[in-house]
Formats: sequence, structure tokens, C-alpha cells
Amino acid sequence: MFADLHLHTHYSDGTYTPDELAQAAVNHGLQTIALTDHDTVEACDLVRSSCQARHVEFIDGVELTSEYNGHELHLLAYFIDLHNKHFQSELARFQEARQNRVREIVARLNHFNVGISASDVLALANCKSPGRPHIARVMVQGGYCKSLDEAFERFLKKHRPAWVPKYKMSAPQAIDLIHEAGGLAVVAHPGINHCDDAIPELVTEGLDGLECFHSKHTRDASQRYVRMADELNLLITGGSDCHGMSKGKPTIGQVKLPLVYVERLCARHAGKMNAAKASPAESTVTGNH
Ligand code: AMP
Ligand code: FE
Ligand code: FE
Ligand code: ZN
Repeated sequence: MFADLHLHTHYSDGTYTPDELAQAAVNHGLQTIALTDHDTVEACDLVRSSCQARHVEFIDGVELTSEYNGHELHLLAYFIDLHNKHFQSELARFQEARQNRVREIVARLNHFNVGISASDVLALANCKSPGRPHIARVMVQGGYCKSLDEAFERFLKKHRPAWVPKYKMSAPQAIDLIHEAGGLAVVAHPGINHCDDAIPELVTEGLDGLECFHSKHTRDASQRYVRMADELNLLITGGSDCHGMSKGKPTIGQVKLPLVYVERLCARHAGKMNAAKASPAESTVTGNH
């Protein structure tokens, strides 16, 4: 009995539809999954009903783009109230910035004789939260590059001519926002973002958990993060970070998180919700309205 708590659909930069994602979960023997699209919860309701139809447990989630001490850091949020007004307005800000960034990147590409249009990218993305993989796909379709990798290597990655920085929320602010929407905040793939020093500091900001298991973590890295989580009293999570076919082979199934960790996550969430109910004054102070 296993879970995967880090998954994307085509509502951000994955390729799976909500239905395909739920079916992939069944195919890989997953009992519980969470959707964590980048800076959007657009697909949560759809994935939830696709999961219900297949008797797969589902947790609402999102992967927020944040930064701490100048380093990019992704924060996973679980159990957020999708209808929380402040959360919705902050997501809208992320999404508008992402759409503007597509226009800026495309304008730069045009200077380098890559003749694609922002409207083609936004039409292909067909979601509120577009990113560079969508631009790369249009570049490949237009014959400007042979592969997504080539598009990133030549133009889109940092220090390349069409790179434009992304809007990021400060990590402490993102943690507060997640709590305000009733969620738990978890640092995603610490082994990719190289943010080990930040983790104890973020604990003092209210961080709830650490994604110790990830498809790009070595076994040693996972064990090190489990020890760190235990020392800091952080919840342990894990997921494949599957983007469907967008990076070749889907990674779903590569990380199988034992359900005991999901039970602890659910228990911590329930505890926080009960505490908020018991002391409504405090929940007002933390902005829970
Ligand atoms: P963005 O959100 O616009 O910054 O784009 C980040 C996404 O691009 C992440 O999902 C990355 O995994 C993906 N990405 C980064 N490098 C590549 C690459 N070489 N090929 C395909 N996708 C990539
Ligand atoms: Fe992604
Ligand atoms: Fe990420
Ligand atoms: Zn991700």
C-alpha cells in the first residue's frame, strides 16, 4: 500500500490529463496520490473525481515557486482549502506573472530569429500556469530545435539568451499563505534545490515537512533527509514528480511512499484543524478567514 505525493498534469507542465493520471496511479498500485501542479490548483477537482471513480485516495496540493536567501525553493502544499480567497488571489498573481514571462521569453527568442509567437505558446499550454517546457515544445514543433533539451540548452536555461527570471514568493510568506489556507507546507526535492542550510531556518517559520523521497534523490540523499526530518520533527513525504511524457519516460511508480507517512500527514493536518476550531481567536490572528 503506497502513495505518490508529487504529480503534475497538463494544467501545468505535465502531459497527463486528470483521467490519465488517476489511471496511471491504479496501474502502479498506488492507493493515495496528491496533485502538485506548479502554481495552480486548476485540476484538483478533476483529478479528485477521476480518483474517486477508481477508488484511489486523493489529496489536494500545489507546488509553489518560492525563494529563500536568493535560491529557488519549491514548496509543496497539501490539504489547502481550494476556495480560500487569499490563496486564490496569490495563485492568480503567479499565473499572470507566468503568462507575462512567456511573452518576455518569446520576445527575446524573436531577437534571435526564433520566429514563434506567444499566442501559439499560450494556446499549446492551454492552462493558467504555462512554463518554459511549453515554449520548448513550440520551438521543436516549429523546427527551431530538435528536442526540448536543445531548446533549454541553447536558449531557455539560466545564463542563456532567452532566460527570464520567474516570479517567486519568499518562502516564509509562502508558508504563511499555505497555513492560512489550512494546508501543510513541505520543502520539495531538497536534493535538487540544494537548500539544506535553509531547512532548519524554515522550521522556525513554521515548515511542516520535507520531501525526503524523490525520483531524483539518491538512496544516500533520501536517508540523509529522513534523518534531518527526524531531528527537526518534520513530516516525511515523497513523490515521483512525474510530468507524464514531457521528459521522456513517466516517473510515476519510481517513488512508492509507504502509507504510514500519509497517515502521519493526515493526523498532523487533522490536529491543526481541530486546534484552529478550538481557538478561533488564534486562527483569526494567523489570518484564517
Ligand atoms: P519553468 O516553470 O518555466 O521555470 O520551467 C521549469 C520546468 O522546466 C521544470 O518542470 C523543469 O523540470 C523543466 N525543464 C528544465 N530543464 C528541462 C529540459 N532540459 N527539458 C525539458 N524540461 C526541462
Ligand atoms: Fe515542472
Ligand atoms: Fe519542483
Ligand atoms: Zn514538481
